[in-house]
Amino acid sequence: MGADPLSGPGFDPAACDRIPIQIPGLIQPHGALLVLRPDDLVVVQASANTRRWLGAEPDAVLGRAVDDLFGTEVADRLRATVARERLDAGPRFALTLVPPTGGAPLDVTVHTSDGLLVLELEATGRSDPGAGDPYTLVRDAVARLQSSASVRGFCQTVAVEVRRLTGFDRVMVYRFAADASGWVLAEDRRPDAASYLDKHFPAGDVPKPARDLMARNWLRLVPDVGYEPVPLVPVDNPVTGRPLDMSFCLLRHSSRMCTTYLKNMGTACQMTMPLLRDGALWGLVSCHHAEPRFVPFAVRAACEVFAQVASLQVAAAEDREAYGTRIDLTAARERLLAGLDRADDPAAWLLDNAPALAAHLPADGSAVCTGHTIVLHGRTPTEAEARALGAWLGAAHPDRVFASDCLSAAYPPATGFVERAAGLLAVEFGPELAASVLWFRREEVETVAWAGDPRKPVETGPLGEYLSPRRSFERWLETVRGKCRPWSPAEVEATNMLRAAVLDRVRTRTDQAERVRSELAASRKELDAFVYVASHDLKEPVRGIHGYAHYLIEQAGAKLDTEERRRLDGLVRLTDRMEGLIESLLHFSRVGQLDLTLAAADLSGVAAEALDVVAPRIAEAGAEVVIGPLPTLRCDRRWVREVLVNLITNGLKYNDQPHKRVEIGYTVPTAEGDPPVLFVRDNGIGIPERHREAVFQMFKRLHGRTDYGGGTGAGLAIVRKIVDRHGGRIWAESVPGAGSTFYFTLATEKCPK
Ligand code: ADP
Repeated sequence: MGADPLSGPGFDPAACDRIPIQIPGLIQPHGALLVLRPDDLVVVQASANTRRWLGAEPDAVLGRAVDDLFGTEVADRLRATVARERLDAGPRFALTLVPPTGGAPLDVTVHTSDGLLVLELEATGRSDPGAGDPYTLVRDAVARLQSSASVRGFCQTVAVEVRRLTGFDRVMVYRFAADASGWVLAEDRRPDAASYLDKHFPAGDVPKPARDLMARNWLRLVPDVGYEPVPLVPVDNPVTGRPLDMSFCLLRHSSRMCTTYLKNMGTACQMTMPLLRDGALWGLVSCHHAEPRFVPFAVRAACEVFAQVASLQVAAAEDREAYGTRIDLTAARERLLAGLDRADDPAAWLLDNAPALAAHLPADGSAVCTGHTIVLHGRTPTEAEARALGAWLGAAHPDRVFASDCLSAAYPPATGFVERAAGLLAVEFGPELAASVLWFRREEVETVAWAGDPRKPVETGPLGEYLSPRRSFERWLETVRGKCRPWSPAEVEATNMLRAAVLDRVRTRTDQAERVRSELAASRKELDAFVYVASHDLKEPVRGIHGYAHYLIEQAGAKLDTEERRRLDGLVRLTDRMEGLIESLLHFSRVGQLDLTLAAADLSGVAAEALDVVAPRIAEAGAEVVIGPLPTLRCDRRWVREVLVNLITNGLKYNDQPHKRVEIGYTVPTAEGDPPVLFVRDNGIGIPERHREAVFQMFKRLHGRTDYGGGTGAGLAIVRKIVDRHGGRIWAESVPGAGSTFYFTLATEKCPK
């Protein structure tokens, strides 16, 4: 098991994630390793370099107890550590030992693996003048790890403090993404050291087994990447019959992939510490030095404490940042929505506020779509592409927020505009508000910087091309192509809240309008009922007066003088007129009260029926009435016929042309969903502009009582009521002297033919 599993022919890059790097059977040469039986502390396995550190070859060490090798005092202190400390979660400092054969003092750590004790002995390094007092240093560093508002600020503090503690040339803090790629969020370095700030590292640069080990070890040091690995003797542990599990060994050999990679980066020494959040690997503190250097155990212990404290603060830093983002997004949303409260039409408001909506989220572009209108902002797909995307969204993900950092995976046509918009966050407002807002993010590949020069010629070493920066970069490109920076949970949440807030306001407004409408309808109905009762009750006395007047004329006609007779005739006329008015009122109130019988009606047929009704008048006037093509609409044909009869009659009545002409037709709606507009046009006397609304009022006439054939002035009021009852609208246009056109619509939806 002495061979490096990554070297040799037939190297398979994909196998990197499966390599058992915890059992290399090799150590780094900056210390010695002894494996002891726990009961008698007899050495059963030793690193091949014991001569250098302990002054004796492995053969002279194997099979001997610690008491025998280093004296009873050392053995007793070791036993005390074993009895006192928890040793299965990593090495614990046991003692400092001066080898019996002389040489530098050694720091001894101990931990358990496979039920055996693992002793690791390293030079104390106490003569290192730069080390300082690590406990004072770490105490101050922790104090400075203050609450920074942003995650990046927090990482920067970590980088600065670790560099202050250790004196490395460069300290970087990485953040691991969900796909395990790394991003250098912060860096502190010697001014002349190369910068890796903001660079991205492919996931393959730190394979999964390495990440797993990182999450379990608070610190890892490779003092000299150019080292010659030292094998364990014997290779397999004689007690277990297996290679030693070295997951927690400080001296564990680093894979060649790792050391080659570091060499490629111009680094001779590396020390790493994980940043964990909720026990999972969140980031990494990576320290580099251009020259080989040893970091004494005491300084490493201080760094470990610091990494543990920093890990505890990661969650707080992220939460603080997310909280800050939420506050900003909430403030932006409130500002935006204040305008909506004042707007008449929410859809138009969305379009008018396209720039503010675009700024609502950190995105590269946005689109606001309502009905047929689309407003693009920033870097987006083309209008046609955005329309197609909007249609797909409405069908596939209606009524909700949709977020994707790789749109083409869900919507293949997006590959066509991937450089402009690789990711989408969209909100569909659903049936209450036919609109959607889309935010786009560009493909990440464009913004990426890689910690190596991808144009650098491929270096082929003993491990093949795979480990060179260029290959690694290409592999990473494959994994990020078509993807954008992911939408954060805070951003998705903010969009959900925007949607809820807009819809809430739209619903409140609809509810209010609905309430006003139904209150109005109720009071109209009441008024109609009152008018009906009142006019009905009025009818009888008027009839009575009319009857008495007639009776008087008949009975006393001869005795009456001319003036008396004229007055009585006037009374009869007035009561006739009064009856006419009451009849009109009764009819008007009936139109308001009776239920409509709605059904699809071919309006050409309805117009023909109306023509039959007015046929005698047409004939009398020698007029021409033309009926153009008319649509089929859902309506109460009886009432619509009455509308047409009234309008045609007026067109003939208020007309002093020798050749009277009335035309009935309709205009095709220009926009989908708009109702067709029907019209009745005449070449009559016209209506002055100031009266064009007034003519629809009850009993409003523009002429003398008997002019133009007389009338009660109720016709157009009844017509308007019928149109209202259908949910339509009526209005008049006119050129005085040349004619009038009455336009009206019925229900908003058009009937299928
Ligand atoms: P009436 O015909 O009984 O007077 P209407 O309500 O039908 O009552 O019409 C109200 C008034 O509007 C009419 O008196 C007339 O002055 C005017 N008017 C209606 N239709 C026309 C028209 N086609 N051309 C000109 N004036 C019109």
